[in-house]
Amino acid sequence: MALNDYVTTFGQYLKAKYGEKIYKLSLHANVTCPNRDGSKGIGGCTFCNNKSFFPNHMNANASISEQIECNVVQLQKKTQAKKFLAYFQAYSNTYGDIEYLKKIYVESLKPDCVIGLCVGTRPDCISNDVLNLLQKIKDLGFEVWIELGLQSAHDVTLERVNRGHTFVEYQDAVRRIKNAKINLCTHLIAGLPGENKSMILDSWQQVLNEGVQGIKWHPLHIVKGTQLARQWRQGEYQPITQEDYIDIVSDALAATPAEVIVHRAMSTVAQKQLLLAPHWTENRWPIMTGIEAKLAQAKQLKTSA
Ligand code: SF4
Repeated sequence: MALNDYVTTFGQYLKAKYGEKIYKLSLHANVTCPNRDGSKGIGGCTFCNNKSFFPNHMNANASISEQIECNVVQLQKKTQAKKFLAYFQAYSNTYGDIEYLKKIYVESLKPDCVIGLCVGTRPDCISNDVLNLLQKIKDLGFEVWIELGLQSAHDVTLERVNRGHTFVEYQDAVRRIKNAKINLCTHLIAGLPGENKSMILDSWQQVLNEGVQGIKWHPLHIVKGTQLARQWRQGEYQPITQEDYIDIVSDALAATPAEVIVHRAMSTVAQKQLLLAPHWTENRWPIMTGIEAKLAQAKQLKTSA
């Protein structure tokens, strides 16, 4: 059994819609983040080192077209990939001059093999100009997703990890994204400092209550060059265990409605040499196997009840 036997995965959704497997191309847009450039803060989130999002073989200074070409070549060495989504992942990819954002989005959609884009960003970076632009791109027939990093619905946690935004700001962004009829995937992190299982599941429930189309789960990675790494070295933070991650995420997945697409149940860091802990996050497959086993148990219990 695979994850898509229990939930609707993003891969499954795309295959049903486009008739074949669609792959994501990670792109670096050379944008920044208000939590780093001084408009909200300068240190960024305590766990953030954006280098950890970007694969080693990619040149962050290359143009969008060059990055796409390089990424497609890499993917086609390993897969039969023919169609792709441009994925603007690192930093806040709706933050910046609207003409620049238009230029990079349009450039990413030029190759015939790119069928749409996924734009990673923060709740406080959703301007009406960006929404209008993404709406126009969607109306041209492209697949468009906004991936909003919330991480936790608890303001106390958001403050502890120096997110620089609140849950209310997330709710406001969700409302406006929904009005623009753009698909929204929210990112949640399991293992944030000070959070237990009930807080993590409460965040997940609150996100579901907002009516999002997708959810993406991550364990909290401790990567080099972050405040979290210093807290961990000083014994002020203990990472989530593999068992707890599997337990919490599978409980959430078992109760996720079929219409909510699971974009990811487990993530690894793109640059493994930056990872300090927890080392079980280096390999996603044992975690996926554990999650699938727990989902099978939950399904069995449901049918025998
Ligand atoms: S919002 Fe994203 S890019 Fe900005 S500091 Fe936090 S994790 Fe890093």
